Amino acid sequence: MEKYYITTAIAYTSGKPHIGNTYEIVLADLLARFKRKQGFDVRFQTGTDEHGEKIELKAAAAGKTPKEFVDEVAGGIKNIWDLMNTSYDKFVRTTDEYHEKQIQKMFKKFYEQGDIYKGAYHGWYCTPCESFWTESQLKDGKCPDCGRDVHVAEEEAYFFKMSKYADALMEYYNTHPDFILPVSRKNEMVNNFLKPGLQDLCVSRTSFKWGIPVDFDIFPPSWRSQG
Ligand SMILES: [Zn+2]
Repeated sequence: MEKYYITTAIAYTSGKPHIGNTYEIVLADLLARFKRKQGFDVRFQTGTDEHGEKIELKAAAAGKTPKEFVDEVAGGIKNIWDLMNTSYDKFVRTTDEYHEKQIQKMFKKFYEQGDIYKGAYHGWYCTPCESFWTESQLKDGKCPDCGRDVHVAEEEAYFFKMSKYADALMEYYNTHPDFILPVSRKNEMVNNFLKPGLQDLCVSRTSFKWGIPVDFDIFPPSWRSQG
């Protein structure tokens, strides 16, 4: 039986699901049901994205641990998906133990094969907020959160070597014209990201703790991947 895989973006658990999440899973459900009827072996996945600074802060404000907070929100999201009778095969939570283990395994593998390397992240830093900002996030040259002065700073971080894959991706897209559809989205990807030159991606944070710990190397325990 021919396999057909479909997934949605995973909902961020900083609050209640909104119409955008709901609309997306209903459309994905429709496709999954249609493909099953056509005789495909369908795997339909959805889930929740449960890490990050925003969740850490929201949990603290609610007087809960981040895990208690995301358990509640993810449970609410899953209830709504079930209420709408969406036919997903698997609901993935990024705090699932097997998911965290796999992320750590992949992170280490990429590091060992040189795809993840240790570098320095440069940005505008607000000391009282302990936050890095990009140029475009600043408000009138000041911290967008507290309005205080920011200064140029850098910190060690892990980066994924996306730049290494630009030529291979371009080659693949050119030889597989159906890989990204519609074509307008493929052109957007090629013109806005690949052609200007893919930037290596910063994949760790030190400014908060609610993430999956990087469990190797000589970094202090506060280092977290974003997975
Ligand atoms: Zn600030």
